[in-house]
Amino acid sequence: MRNILVLAEPTELAWSKATLGLVSLASGLGDVSVALCSVVSDELLEELAQRGASAIYLNTNEKIYNHGNSAKADFLIELITSHEPDAVLLETSVDNKEIAGRVAVLSNSGVLTDISALEFDQSEKLIARQEIFGGFSTVISSVSTGVTIVTVHPSDPGVESKQKDLKVVEVFTNFADSTKALTVKMGPRTETSSRPKLTEAKIVIGAGRGVGNQENFKNSVEGLADALGAAIGATQAVIDLQLCPSDLLVGQSGATVSPDLYFALGISGAIHHLAGMQSARCVVAIDIDENAPMLHNADLGIVGDVGEIVPKLIEVLNNRK
Ligand SMILES: Cc1cc2nc3c(=O)[nH]c(=O)nc-3n(C[C@H](O)[C@H](O)[C@H](O)COP(=O)(O)OP(=O)(O)OC[C@H]3O[C@@H](n4cnc5c(N)ncnc54)[C@H](O)[C@@H]3O)c2cc1C
Repeated sequence: MRNILVLAEPTELAWSKATLGLVSLASGLGDVSVALCSVVSDELLEELAQRGASAIYLNTNEKIYNHGNSAKADFLIELITSHEPDAVLLETSVDNKEIAGRVAVLSNSGVLTDISALEFDQSEKLIARQEIFGGFSTVISSVSTGVTIVTVHPSDPGVESKQKDLKVVEVFTNFADSTKALTVKMGPRTETSSRPKLTEAKIVIGAGRGVGNQENFKNSVEGLADALGAAIGATQAVIDLQLCPSDLLVGQSGATVSPDLYFALGISGAIHHLAGMQSARCVVAIDIDENAPMLHNADLGIVGDVGEIVPKLIEVLNNRK
C-alpha cells in the first residue's frame, strides 16, 4: 500500500475546504497519514478520519511556531525519515511552498507546486497535473528523485464514507541548529474583517480598475459584499491604485478562489486574473466595454457602468431582506 503524508493545519478552529480536499485526494492515492503541528479537537480529528486518514503524527515540540517555516520542514523531514512516505502533500500557499522547497532540498527530493490533480500511472509513478496560462494548457510532470513533494490546489469533493480507525502518534522533533537560529516574533494583527475569508467564501466580489475610485469601491464593492455576505477580491490594478490591501489580490500572483458565485466588477479578464478565479461555479461580469474578455468568460455578462448598476442591485437586495 502506498503511503501519503499530508501536512494539515486548521484555521480558526476549523479545517479549510482545501485541507479537507487534500486529505480526500490523498486517500484516493493510498494510506493517509496527517502531520499536525499542534493539538486539535476530537471533532476535527474525526473529520480527518471520515476523509480516510488512518494516522496522525502530532508534533509535541511547542517551539514549532517560534522558528518559522524551517521548523515545520524539520518536522516533515523527521516523518519522511521514519515513515518513508511515497509522497508528501501540502495545500498550495506561500508558506507551504517555502516548506515544500526546504523539505525537498533537505531530503534530496523533487518538488512540484500548484498541482491540480495527482494519480499513480501503470508503472506506479505519481503523475501530477498543473494548469498553466490560466488553464489554457496542462503540464504533466513527475518527480524522479527521492520523495514526491507536492503543493496542491485541491477541490473539495465532499465527505465520502472512507472512515478509518485513527491512531495518534506523538512526535518530538529536535530542530536543526540553523532552524533554532531563526526566531519569529508574532505581533498583533492590525486589520480584522468581519467578512468571510477570501479563499473560503461562497460569494466573492471581484473589484477591477473599472470600479474607478475609493468612493465607488466603498459604495459598489463593499456595499455589494455587505448585501450578500461576500468576501472581496481585487485585481492587480486595484491593488496598485491602493483601493484595498494587497492580500485581497486574486490571480496568478495572489489568491486562488473557487466560490459558488464570483462578481467581476470592471475587470477586463487578463489571463493573470482568470488564473485565480476560473474555477468559480458561476461568474457574473459587469463591464462598460462589450468586448472585455471577462464578459465572454462569464455565465452572465452585463454591459454597463459599475457605478450605475451596482448601487441599484444593492438596493434591490437590501429591499428583499
Ligand atoms: C507576471 C504578472 C502577474 C500578474 N498577476 C496578476 C494577478 O495575480 N492578479 C491580477 O488581477 N492581475 C495580475 N497581473 C496584471 C494583469 O495582467 C492585468 O493587468 C490586471 O489583472 C488588470 O486588472 P483590471 O482588469 O482591473 O484592469 P484593466 O485591464 O484596466 O480593466 C479594467 C476594465 O474595467 C472596465 N471599465 C472601465 N470603466 C468601467 C465602468 N465605469 N464600469 C464598468 N467597467 C468599466 C474596462 O472596460 C476594462 O474592461 C499580473 C501581470 C503580470 C505581468
